[in-house]
Amino acid sequence: MLKFEGINFMAFSIFVFPVSAFTSCMENRHFDFVVVGGGSAGYAAARTAREMFGNVAIIEDAQKLGGLCILRGCMPSKTLIYPAEVLHLAKEGAKFGLQIPEAKADMSAIHRRKLDTTEVFASYRREQLESERFHLIRDRAVFLDEETVELAGSGERITADHFLIATGSMVNTPDIPGLRETHHWTSDDVLDLDFLPESVIVLGGGLVACELAQFLNRVGTKVIQIQRSARILKEASAEAAAVVMKAFRDERIDLRTDTELESVAKDGDGYVVRFRKDGESCEVRAAHLLNALGRKPNSRGIGLKKAGVETKDSGHIRVNDMQQTANPRIYAAGDVAGPYEIVHLAIMQGEVAANHACGKNPDPVNYDIKTSVIFTDPQIATAGISIEEAEERGMDVFSADYPFCDHGKAILMEAKYGYVKAWKDRATGRVVGAECVGKDAGEIIHSIAVGIALGATPVDLLKVHWYHPTLSEIWSYPLEDLVEELGK
Ligand SMILES: Cc1cc2nc3c(=O)[nH]c(=O)nc-3n(C[C@H](O)[C@H](O)[C@H](O)COP(=O)(O)OP(=O)(O)OC[C@H]3O[C@@H](n4cnc5c(N)ncnc54)[C@H](O)[C@@H]3O)c2cc1C
Repeated sequence: MLKFEGINFMAFSIFVFPVSAFTSCMENRHFDFVVVGGGSAGYAAARTAREMFGNVAIIEDAQKLGGLCILRGCMPSKTLIYPAEVLHLAKEGAKFGLQIPEAKADMSAIHRRKLDTTEVFASYRREQLESERFHLIRDRAVFLDEETVELAGSGERITADHFLIATGSMVNTPDIPGLRETHHWTSDDVLDLDFLPESVIVLGGGLVACELAQFLNRVGTKVIQIQRSARILKEASAEAAAVVMKAFRDERIDLRTDTELESVAKDGDGYVVRFRKDGESCEVRAAHLLNALGRKPNSRGIGLKKAGVETKDSGHIRVNDMQQTANPRIYAAGDVAGPYEIVHLAIMQGEVAANHACGKNPDPVNYDIKTSVIFTDPQIATAGISIEEAEERGMDVFSADYPFCDHGKAILMEAKYGYVKAWKDRATGRVVGAECVGKDAGEIIHSIAVGIALGATPVDLLKVHWYHPTLSEIWSYPLEDLVEELGK
């Protein structure tokens, strides 16, 4: 039974809904609930709404169904990153007493595997979207007023009791001289590579930039990464980012930080990027250029003003904790609403919106217990609120950490980068946040994330049988420190 994005797909196939539940009239159709955008947020909302409403439509304008996560985001990127990690380990084989002299990437095979793997996920999503449970409309929706959208292709008008806007995000191309005029790669192109690029300049230091820079470097591309601020990964703590920066430099990624981009240009068969660093003009050249300078919400050109929907300066749609926009019958969820570009949060937001539209009183998404993972190697994973957020809220925070380089299982796995850290609120004694930087941090974080979600104290968490030798048992060391402090 396939599970993806926390959804058991087979469970839906046992329900048979009468086709007559849907109106077949093609003019000015009216629905109980209309979702604009059939990605993670939109699909989750439609699925939830369909449990209560008989008449749910999804409007999707993409040529291929599946949404960002399946087609050009989480799943293809992790499908590529994993073999790059396997290759890296093979190349490091001597550390383990192995000789693997011929280890190298076959990009055409990696690409084929990516296509096959993502097609498995996409076909399940397609099946669901095209099932008789929904009315799937393949067109672009634009709001005409507070209760009507027009389909750009057919001109048809659709009204609904409730709408959900889940139009996602798009690549941001900032105003850097030459960038817009110069044809360049985005993450979509890197995820679709079927050859080994000789060299790539990566613009940006966010999570997508870093995950793809390391992927390219590990399959054998010369990577020059240029980042404006003094450190990469502003989504993570400075301490965590420093570990990844060290790992990148150890792997010979040419990482330039603290720079000011001046211009981008095509130069013969390649690209030249000029920037300032330490008051001096510098330039780098490579065969390809990847713009990974972030994404922006896809909220323009869809008639939001006419619909009475407000946006923030960032372009994100303004919502309350039930995901309602300024127009209470229109909801928004996922990347277009923010505040995070994380797929499980997009799903949760879609579910909250749909439940609220159905007249239920759902709990809002609790961002205080959120998890996040950056899939570099070492990975960076967090749960709960950061130390800064806790202190801003007036909490008296105490933290404890422990390095992987001093942990038995990590030593035997040669996985010595990074650390785990947990912090508690002294007033309640509860663990309110944690960070793990290291191999498979995205897996290791979940044991502590469960505790944070359940409001556990360090004493509670030490009742867990932390199995030896595992990477996860490392949590017991900082937890012991948190307990000792509790007794003081
Ligand atoms: C390279 C990369 C890697 C990522 N890795 C991760 C990860 O590991 N983990 C994680 O949690 N997140 C990851 N993300 C982020 C994650 O993919 C997004 O947060 C998530 O997919 C957003 O879902 P969504 O439903 O908001 O938008 P989408 O899935 O983009 O869906 C929006 C849909 O709306 C449609 N649409 C837009 N406008 C209209 C219109 N006017 N009419 C009709 N249809 C319209 C679009 O065609 C699209 O299908 C990654 C993103 C990228 C780019």
